[in-house]
Amino acid sequence: MSRIHLSVPHLGRQELRYVHEAFESNWVSTVGPQLDAFERALSSRIGRPAVALASGTAAIHLGLRLLGVGPGDEVLASDFTFVASVNPIRYLGATPVLVDSDPGTWMMSPERLAEALEDRGRRGRRPRAVVVVHLYGQCADMDALGEVCARHGVPILEDAAEALGATYKGQPAGSMGEVAAFSFNGNKIVTSSGGGMLVARRPEWVERARFWSTQARDPGVAYHHSEMGFNYRLSNVLAAIGRGQLEVLDERVRQRRAVAFRYRDAFADLPGLALMPQAPYGLHTNWLSCFLVDPDRLGATRDDLLAALDAADVEARPLWKPMHLQPLYADCDRYGGDVAERLFELGLCLPSSSNLSLEAQRRVIDVVRDVAGAPRRPGRSPGAAPAADGAGPRIDVPHHRQ
Ligand SMILES: *Cc1c(COP(=O)(O)O)cnc(C)c1O
Repeated sequence: MSRIHLSVPHLGRQELRYVHEAFESNWVSTVGPQLDAFERALSSRIGRPAVALASGTAAIHLGLRLLGVGPGDEVLASDFTFVASVNPIRYLGATPVLVDSDPGTWMMSPERLAEALEDRGRRGRRPRAVVVVHLYGQCADMDALGEVCARHGVPILEDAAEALGATYKGQPAGSMGEVAAFSFNGNKIVTSSGGGMLVARRPEWVERARFWSTQARDPGVAYHHSEMGFNYRLSNVLAAIGRGQLEVLDERVRQRRAVAFRYRDAFADLPGLALMPQAPYGLHTNWLSCFLVDPDRLGATRDDLLAALDAADVEARPLWKPMHLQPLYADCDRYGGDVAERLFELGLCLPSSSNLSLEAQRRVIDVVRDVAGAPRRPGRSPGAAPAADGAGPRIDVPHHRQ
């Protein structure tokens, strides 16, 4: 039996055909028809112009620069996220200020954001931008967050690295802020092996980012530079992979959701284990199958589960470690309570690949049920069966005991 990984690439024949096209045309560097087609496809999906970059992190970096972030500025960001949401703030010489999550969605709390913007305003330090992260395949509550930001005149950058294919009230993730970043890293819902995409409301911003991504060389044959640029452009070969992957995005979304709902159904009789909330306002891709553990009700801790899964050669992980617990960002100002911290303590991600076989998933489920002391094949108790599409039982994020 081989190790079951958390989230692996899922490639097909079409991706390979496009890669062959790239080789045969000899466009194997940072210009070419695959890049154009990849950008067109993403752009028509999101409804905004797009530029393909070397990573999602590069897209966040250039996106923040488009919003005018520079030395001495403050930028509000989700505390509960992957470090790449926040590092680009520092690349630009600005200072992150962290905002806690809403326990109902796990995303940035609109109340905490309002508190942060009011308090920064009182100190005469209006933040230059807000980085809102759409976590694990689900959108943040953009109407509520957008309303708070509009009141304070602060633009939003959507970090949609984990949410390609998700929607909010019918709108695609990445189509709601001034700028948005997508990732095509190997662990995401679709991949270009590595890569990113920046989209923006204003077409001229996308052209600006394109210019910066290719060393900001001024027009003309001479190597003349009046602005700082970066080597951030995606390769045409990798764009070929990403282009093929976008053609199967909807199928990958269905498969990831099916994985998450199979876990949810298999654990429906375990009161101490609940799938991440599925907010009613949009489509959650369930990029990763995330669960919260209530140790008293499950009879096992989150760490018991992680240890047993590892011993069974299954890769599972805690949820993101909040930024304020990182040595790198421990000194940042922060608004909120202990929601992100509790999610980190009680949450875990189970293997979620779109090509996860039923047998492999059965193996994961058996380990979890064994740890919980439950029989491997439960008779479904009447009333315990969750709705076809809801989150099933809920565990509220409990607060630290005082
Ligand atoms: C993956 C990820 C990124 C970074 O994307 P890369 O393409 O790996 O640079 C940024 N933010 C979040 C929330 C991510 O999950």
